[in-house]
Amino acid sequence: MSERVIIIGSGPAGLTAAIYAARANLAPLMFEGSQAGGQLMLTTEVENFPGFPDGILGPELMDHMRKQAERFETRIQTADVTRVEFGERPFKVWVGADEYLAESVIISTGASARWLNVPGEEKLRGRGVSACATCDGFFFRDRKIVVVGGGDSAMEEAMFLTKFASKVTIIHRRNEFRASAIMVKRALEHPKIEVVWDTVVEAMLGEDEITGLSIRNVKTDEVSTMPTEGVFVAIGHTPNTEIFRGQLDMDEVGYLTLQGDGSTATSVEGVFAAGDVADSTYRQAITAAGTGCQAAIDAERWLDQE
Ligand code: NAP
Repeated sequence: MSERVIIIGSGPAGLTAAIYAARANLAPLMFEGSQAGGQLMLTTEVENFPGFPDGILGPELMDHMRKQAERFETRIQTADVTRVEFGERPFKVWVGADEYLAESVIISTGASARWLNVPGEEKLRGRGVSACATCDGFFFRDRKIVVVGGGDSAMEEAMFLTKFASKVTIIHRRNEFRASAIMVKRALEHPKIEVVWDTVVEAMLGEDEITGLSIRNVKTDEVSTMPTEGVFVAIGHTPNTEIFRGQLDMDEVGYLTLQGDGSTATSVEGVFAAGDVADSTYRQAITAAGTGCQAAIDAERWLDQE
């Protein structure tokens, strides 16, 4: 039997799509993935999601959305989709050897943290090197740590880490942050935060645990070693589109390309995309939720006319 709609991914985009699709009587089947809830599960306070004047914790917001989707009888499976076949209808979606058929699909697989890909980084991940302050910050009590990056994520991670660390040094490759003015102000004014400008990390040092960084000033080319007891990499994200390669059009980075303004249609009719997986510009929880709503409405209208 074919599902009316399968939703892949369970961040704000997927769960909003589920709420709308379920309320349109499409009885959506959602594969929430092993990292259910998406990037908000890795964040602390969310201050800019309308409706929560005092802010809300990211995981709590996702819990609310999940409960709302379930209330309207979305069927949620905690599994990663491993393969898809969009060449003919019904579309095929696999979880390992299990095959599911769908008349329409909404993709909301989001994006994942990027790494620097410098020597030592992979070996020292989980040994003082992390991309998630909310997950690992607690382990760095009273330590001197480094945050790499200059966007809002880097500022947010740095601010959060001041709760634990004795000192936080932000290393940024330029002499100006990309982050929004309010986040920059907060970070620069914080007594525990220091900034090293115009500097790149060339290697992460240490055997069993991170002990330092090899850094280079890009203006002077001077190379030096900076001792550190922890490193948080906060340099942006990559869309989670590996399983759609060859099936759907995407840009050079891997973001799914959509068919025209205001549409969530992908390059295959009947397959829609919502949230960060197709958005390299806004990447906010609220915009993801908004496009999740659009994708469900687009899917519903498309199914109606088929
Ligand atoms: P981002 O805005 O793309 O910033 C990435 C930062 O990492 C940039 O400063 C970039 O440097 C640096 N970078 C990238 N590759 C690097 C490399 N290989 N080596 C060294 N540095 C590197 O990513 P983001 O901070 O994750 O934010 C993503 C989006 O989410 C943004 O739209 C942001 O506003 C939003 N966000 C919002 C909040 C909030 O409002 N609470 C919190 C987090 C994120 P350059 O500046 O030189 O390019």
